[in-house]
Amino acid sequence: MRLKGVAAAPGVAVGPAWRHEEGQGEAPLPDIRAAAARAAADLTDLAERVRRAGRPEEAAIFEAQALMAEDPMLLEGSERRAASLTDPDAIAAAVEAEARAAAEPLAAIPDELLAARATDVRDVGGRIARIIAGRSIRLPDRPSIAIADDLPPSVTAEIPEGLLLGIALERGSAVSHAAILARSLGIPAVVAVGGLWAAAQAEGPSLTIGLDGDGGSVVLDPGERELAELRAAGERRVAAAEAARALRDRPGATADGHRVALLANIGKPEDAARAIEAGAEGVGLFRTEFLYVGRSDAPSEEEQTRAYRAVLDAFGERPVVIRLIDIGGDKPVPYLHLEPEANPFLGMRGLRLAHANRELQLQQVRAIARAGAGARAVPRLMAPMVATVEDVELLRGLVDEALADLDAGGIARAAELEVGIMVEVPSAALLASELARRVDFFSIGSNDLTQYVLAMDRTHPGFAATADALHPAVLRAIRETVHGAEAAGIEVAVCGELAGDPLGALVLVGLGVTELSMDAGRLDEVRAAVAARTRAELVALAEAALAAETAAAVRALVTDPGTPAAGATAGGVSSRA
Ligand code: PEP
Ligand code: MG
Repeated sequence: MRLKGVAAAPGVAVGPAWRHEEGQGEAPLPDIRAAAARAAADLTDLAERVRRAGRPEEAAIFEAQALMAEDPMLLEGSERRAASLTDPDAIAAAVEAEARAAAEPLAAIPDELLAARATDVRDVGGRIARIIAGRSIRLPDRPSIAIADDLPPSVTAEIPEGLLLGIALERGSAVSHAAILARSLGIPAVVAVGGLWAAAQAEGPSLTIGLDGDGGSVVLDPGERELAELRAAGERRVAAAEAARALRDRPGATADGHRVALLANIGKPEDAARAIEAGAEGVGLFRTEFLYVGRSDAPSEEEQTRAYRAVLDAFGERPVVIRLIDIGGDKPVPYLHLEPEANPFLGMRGLRLAHANRELQLQQVRAIARAGAGARAVPRLMAPMVATVEDVELLRGLVDEALADLDAGGIARAAELEVGIMVEVPSAALLASELARRVDFFSIGSNDLTQYVLAMDRTHPGFAATADALHPAVLRAIRETVHGAEAAGIEVAVCGELAGDPLGALVLVGLGVTELSMDAGRLDEVRAAVAARTRAELVALAEAALAAETAAAVRALVTDPGTPAAGATAGGVSSRA
């Protein structure tokens, strides 16, 4: 039986199913604090093991989880919920409920880092609950494909190296922790597979799973023909990856030499090395939220300056785009005193924060300018969530004021800054001509642009398959943006996930986008895809895509250029990167 889902990590795998489920373990331990202390000790051990295995970033997650396990708020809240309970299962349920409540404000956040933290909190609650109720998770004993509703990070990390061949999730999204982990382990993952769990249970205990992490499908109990297809797809993938890797030293360009700069998105200075190794021609998006979240006070200007300088130094003459803080009322950043909002995605977020907290953003602009003192490239500063001409005027005012502050204090700074904006709100695309005259560059945030153009919450699992950035409505907004930029003579980049989708990249180049910024792991594939087509072919492809009526029609078109665009209906090819 073949079930469709959303492709979340590329590759193909076949193997026995391992189900993520709880069974009977040791004796129950109904004392919440004792159970939490044991959970913390287990997580500290896990962090140590993962660190020894050469995965320091994951180790840091589990160290943070060990602290969460003994967080006084979690423990006191759990004790309040469990005050009159004696049954270990009921006490365990109380702890899980408290952890779920604590995770709630973090969960609906379009930010990998923070959304992952919500999973971390629930994961910690689940671990304490298992100790209380005397339950455990039996880990696989042979190389297997994990099937789960959602797979908590600490469980995934406990699976010994080599025993996890792939991940199939009933829920989850391409940005869920398990998907991110799968990409970093280099194993395939398919998420949002409706009906997966029930279908797997109906198949009985010994079940073979075939996973296509490129096409986004899961095959339960594959027959000979399906196995042969999966094997052939796996071999094709390995061969294509090797061929793509061989192009690493070449700058991005189409087959006829039209230049397309291929840059990396990074989320912290430590990501720079991986991006450079993958052949990034610069940084098209440095998300700076890592400096602001998960702490009780704002980062100092000096701390910020060091972080930005580290990235500028690492990239030397190559461009680096540093984005101003992109946070709103959906993110718990206590020292910003953000009011809870009914619709935080439409609220006081991103650049708009400057209305209430101008000093916060002034400080960040100053830090970027200071980091640029002595740098070999002009720092590029970018504002998120720009919707109006007034927003750009606000941004320009911030930059002027910050530079004047530094000059008045005699503080060394970059001689100049390039000032750009993200085009990720439909009004910015519609006002592209007006905005382009006032800034040095555009970078299209296709993740948010898709959510706002289609009015589909990007974090909603129900829209994982339909909120497709290749929708013709989104492409038409991108075309408007490119036209506005071309008239003003500025460059247009795309730094949303669409840029790292080889099919998306082809359409974007055809639309006139000249810079693509993506996770470093996607650079090889995109470089190879762009190098295989001429500019004229991609322009024709983009024109056909613009004329299409549905996202499925666009995908069918880019997968098989012979397919007519207009009139095709949903239900065609739906593989997503
Ligand atoms: C986007 O919206 O496409 C984008 C790149 O920014 P983020 O994903 O951080 O919102
Ligand atoms: Mg965005």
